[in-house]
Amino acid sequence: MTTTSLNPVGSTNGAGAHRGPMIKSAWDMTAVADWALFLDVDGTLLEIAQRPEQVHVSERVMNILAVAEAFLGGALALISGRGIADLDRLFSPLKLRAAGLHGLERRGGDGVLENLGEAHLLDRLRGPLSELTDRYPGLLLEDKGLAMALHYRQAPDAEQEIKSFIAKLVADGEEPLTVLHGKMVVEVKQMDSNKGKAIAAFMAEPPFAGRLPVFIGDDVTDEDGFQVVNDLKGHSILVGDRSPTVARLGLPDVPTLLTWLERIAADPAAQNGIVREGL
Ligand SMILES: [Mg+2]
Repeated sequence: MTTTSLNPVGSTNGAGAHRGPMIKSAWDMTAVADWALFLDVDGTLLEIAQRPEQVHVSERVMNILAVAEAFLGGALALISGRGIADLDRLFSPLKLRAAGLHGLERRGGDGVLENLGEAHLLDRLRGPLSELTDRYPGLLLEDKGLAMALHYRQAPDAEQEIKSFIAKLVADGEEPLTVLHGKMVVEVKQMDSNKGKAIAAFMAEPPFAGRLPVFIGDDVTDEDGFQVVNDLKGHSILVGDRSPTVARLGLPDVPTLLTWLERIAADPAAQNGIVREGL
């Protein structure tokens, strides 16, 4: 394949001593109609906003999702840290298959919503976390019921204190909780789910089963998904240049991904099932 002018993420250069293994640009890939496509939302399909409720879903993104879902026979799912109710609100009127809250919620192939979470596990944390947000203007506590996220994009100086506060808070209890560190966000959720497990669950059921899994994401919490897709010999695609990563392919940013999705879902060669991976 050629990587041309798009600068594959993770490309080697002298300053990249701690970068992950070199990953190739996904730009020249051609989708085939037998893909199962899994898409992270924030930072992948949508540009990240100052506050999660401020993201903008353009008509273009809606169109891409609708066309790709039809092209793939329904084998498309959103894999997000947002709750599914939030995803449905964002992408209304589309009601896509989805894993929410990093896999704690899942609307599977049959459209039925499955909930793996127990909200009470987070009860002890609510008081202390809202006290913490009172101390830092700009710090935003997002209570998603089965997970709680502290966004410090508007209070970056508080990062270290937030991280130690949450680590101690979780360590002080007996609940099976885990802490996730994303882009300017720390999240607490219960332990036994992640994006990789959600993708594996989709791949075990129609219309995903038997297809080639492709997962596109941008953040640390997407790494479990990349790993599962790698294990299934699918394609793991990182948006942006975060490092290290187990993703094997990359695209530089959200606009490039959208253009790429528009092209692959409309490619007549793909619709004929001709495989041209170009890797
Ligand atoms: Mg993301």
